[in-house]
Amino acid sequence: MDADRIRENLQSVTGRIARAEARSGRPQGSARLIAVTKRNPPERIRHLIDLGVKELAENYPQELWKKAEALREFSPTWHLIGHLQGNKVKRTFPLVRMIHAVDSLKLLRELDRVASGLPRGERPEVCLQVNTSDEEAKHGWSAESLLLDAEAVAACREIPVVGLMTMAAYGTDAESARPSFVELRRVRDELRTRTGLALEHLSMGMSNDFETAIEEGATLVRVGSALFEGAEG
Ligand SMILES: *Cc1c(COP(=O)(O)O)cnc(C)c1O
Repeated sequence: MDADRIRENLQSVTGRIARAEARSGRPQGSARLIAVTKRNPPERIRHLIDLGVKELAENYPQELWKKAEALREFSPTWHLIGHLQGNKVKRTFPLVRMIHAVDSLKLLRELDRVASGLPRGERPEVCLQVNTSDEEAKHGWSAESLLLDAEAVAACREIPVVGLMTMAAYGTDAESARPSFVELRRVRDELRTRTGLALEHLSMGMSNDFETAIEEGATLVRVGSALFEGAEG
C-alpha cells in the first residue's frame, strides 16, 4: 500500500532530521522538511498531507499550478524550487509561500516589481540560488558574482529576500556534498554583512545529503525520493 510505505518513509526521514539537528546542537524543528512532490500524482501526495506534512514543493511552475488546484481543499503551503521564467511570475505568485531558486538579478528585479503591487502579507519570500559546485549546467549566481551584486540585491526592497539556496553536484554522496553547503553558509554570512539583510534561511539538502546539510546549517531541506520510494508502483 502506498499509504503505509509513505508513512514509514516519512517516519524515517523525520527521525533522521531530528537526529541530525540533535547531533549538531540545533533546536528540534530548526530544519524544516519541504516535501518535493514532483513526478507524483495528487492521490499519492494526499497521503503525505494526511500524515501532517504541510509544506510541498514542485520544480516546474505549470506542475505546481496543476497540483495546487488539485489539492486546494487541503490547503498545503507551496514552494517553487525550480527555475521561474519571467512570464510565469504573475500566475505563480499568489500560489506560493517561497520561491527558492531565484537565479539572476534580472529575475529578482522582476519579482521586486511585481511584489510592489501586492500587500506585504501576500508577497512570497525568496531565496537566491548560488552555484556552489561549479557545474556549468546549473542556474544561479557564482559566490563571487552574488557578493558583487550585494548592493543591487539590497536595493530590491519590495520582495522579501530571506536566504540562499544551493544544489550539490549531481550524483555526489553526502560527504562530497559538504563543501557546497559550507560554501553556501559562508556566502550567506558575507552577504548578510554586506547587505544588512537577516538572510535566515539556507535551503540545501536533498534525499542523498540532507543530514549533512543540516549539520552545516540548513533551515529548509528539500526531500523528494526518500519520501516516495517504494510507493511509485
Ligand atoms: C527534485 C529536487 C529535489 C528533491 O530531490 P530528491 O533527491 O528526490 O530528494 C530538491 N531540490 C530540487 C531543486 C529538485 O529539483
